Amino acid sequence: MLYIIDKLLRNYYPYEYAESVFDIDYSALASMGYKAVIFDIDNTLVHHGDDSTPEVDCLFAEIHSAGLKTLLLTNNDEERVQRFIKNIDTLYVCDADKPLQDGYKKALDMLGVKAEEAICAGDQIFTDVLGANRTGIPSVLIHYVYIPGVTKIGKKRYIEKMILWFWRRSRKYSHRLGGIIKKEK
Ligand SMILES: [Mg+2]
Repeated sequence: MLYIIDKLLRNYYPYEYAESVFDIDYSALASMGYKAVIFDIDNTLVHHGDDSTPEVDCLFAEIHSAGLKTLLLTNNDEERVQRFIKNIDTLYVCDADKPLQDGYKKALDMLGVKAEEAICAGDQIFTDVLGANRTGIPSVLIHYVYIPGVTKIGKKRYIEKMILWFWRRSRKYSHRLGGIIKKEK
């Protein structure tokens, strides 16, 4: 039974799950041979629509000094990205049309890396994870940035929770990146 569910859901399964982008061990990724990290912005790095924070600015500097390139891949527009990257030196693709593959392929081209040399980090299974999986880029699902009283939880989040429940029980598909999460909460 679980085997069949795995087969049905495999395109929606992330390679790994993290509570936050700050929980990923980027040095470990670099030493495993990864060369680039592709990030979603809204609800992954900051709450939807927010400017970057000093912590996020620092995180990008840390990732770069670990030897990894970065790229922001967002369905949002140029203005949103420009506002976000005031203090961040990074490549980006806006209006990406995730989960379609074109934006992901463009991102890989700009980074000059192969699909398996990058990871994609994002908060949504049906856009970030699905698009990355279709393109062959290992995906990390990030728990969405939650602000009590501000964040509305949509129906999709419940379906995502269900998919994650099966993912955690999947021997073949869960924790495929191994050892890149700094702390389990
Ligand atoms: Mg998002």
